[in-house]
Amino acid sequence: LRMVSATAINDEPISDEELRPHALDGFVGQPRLKAQLQLFLDAARKRDTAPDHILLAGPPGLGKTTLAMIVANELEVPIRITSGPAIQHAGDLASILSSLDAGEVLFIDEIHRLPRAAEELLYIAMEDFRVDVMVGKGPGASSIPLTLPRFTVVGATTREGMLPSPLRARFGFTAHLDFYPHDELEKLIERSSGVLGVSLGEGAAAELALRSRGTPRIANRLLRRVRDWAIVHDLQVVDVDDVRAALALYQIDSEGLDRLDIAVLNAIVRNFNGGPVGLNNLAAMVGEESETVETVCEPYLVREGFLIRTPKGRVATAKAWSHLGLEPQGETNG
Ligand code: ATP
Repeated sequence: LRMVSATAINDEPISDEELRPHALDGFVGQPRLKAQLQLFLDAARKRDTAPDHILLAGPPGLGKTTLAMIVANELEVPIRITSGPAIQHAGDLASILSSLDAGEVLFIDEIHRLPRAAEELLYIAMEDFRVDVMVGKGPGASSIPLTLPRFTVVGATTREGMLPSPLRARFGFTAHLDFYPHDELEKLIERSSGVLGVSLGEGAAAELALRSRGTPRIANRLLRRVRDWAIVHDLQVVDVDDVRAALALYQIDSEGLDRLDIAVLNAIVRNFNGGPVGLNNLAAMVGEESETVETVCEPYLVREGFLIRTPKGRVATAKAWSHLGLEPQGETNG
């Protein structure tokens, strides 16, 4: 029955692994979430059974994959990694499920993108620990019900709203990850600089934190670019000015906005006179998928007060206009 192995998904270079904390203790920030998860895992350990299924929701790069791995590590069980888009047919999922060992963690990234038939199979597997495996093809095909050992699904999604409610209801614990405040990112950068062997001078970690878009993955990426800078310039210690110079080279601006963020703000302000503009028009204007604009770009722009969502569409705030060096015009709120 081991026909399909789970597909590993990881868009980061292998070196990303060296920065991944393996225990809940090493996971920086998000104190409430950590306390909740700790209790949840401790209870499962005490009961000596696989814990309830866990849903992790939030924008990309905030640590969902890391948390899933930490859950498996803390429980000392293996983890199987797959994703919604990697599962094309219900059968793909059936074969993964039927090969799970007792207690194993099954991590499903982008779980909102599972095909409908796979989703239905997953409900049953999560609730009753049972899967129907199809044997044969055509009119002679039959399905064999198979009892599964208890296992734990850890689902990750950037779009919780797209999960059908029956699926959502099968998670015993849902964690919402939010952008990290600057002080937490600063701690994360200090931890990572230790791992990477970069020596940061006074204020350098804080400067990096300001420009990391509230996102650990970005903080680690910027830190690596700063490390490159230090190596090339033979620096023993990286100062605030070095951080600024290195990041200017990579077009990260003073608010941590990246090229896509700026493109989105520019489109609203320059092409639509500040908005309101619909998501699809906006995405077309910047040449990106609507989903990327909605799940990657907008949450941060909204949180930082550059953009607001109205029933009529997206509107740039006065802060956005002035960030682009322009005087607000037209129908601008904020
Ligand atoms: P995606 O949803 O796109 O998979 P993600 O939210 O799963 O993103 P991760 O891959 O888990 O993000 O994290 C990105 C990087 O940031 C990893 O290198 C991880 O080590 C690091 N990281 C994330 N959160 C934390 C944290 N709280 N403490 C320490 N490192 C973290």
